[in-house]
Amino acid sequence: MTHLTGHCLCGEISFEADGDVPVMANCHCTACRHSTGSAYATLMFMKQDDVKITGTPKTFSHGSDAGTTMTKHFCATCGTPLFTQNSAREGMLGIRAGNIKEHQEFAPKVNVYVSSKLDATVLEDGLPAFEKMPG
Ligand SMILES: [Zn+2]
Ligand SMILES: [Zn+2]
Repeated sequence: MTHLTGHCLCGEISFEADGDVPVMANCHCTACRHSTGSAYATLMFMKQDDVKITGTPKTFSHGSDAGTTMTKHFCATCGTPLFTQNSAREGMLGIRAGNIKEHQEFAPKVNVYVSSKLDATVLEDGLPAFEKMPG
């Protein structure tokens, strides 16, 4: 059981989560790079029902190269990217690790979409890396 709390930069949106974190990943896909403005996304996936969100994030949906619908949740006031959903993983919510107070809980197990990573991004030795998304 993992307990996580966090908020956006301005504090308008906050969240509290209690539950298992079955997936922790760094995603280097171009959509994650754009939506975070960063080299890659740091994601902790939890059951949506385990995450209590205070405030209402704005959402933006787009198609992925795998043909699924991705929905990004961000603060409309300060622009902080907060959550992401994938239609292929119904009921799961990806929490962006950079917003989490208990950041020591973030230990990525895998790098995905390294085919589109920045040249400058150095991958951690020993962490599995997939060109796209593992089956
Ligand atoms: Zn905010
Ligand atoms: Zn991605």
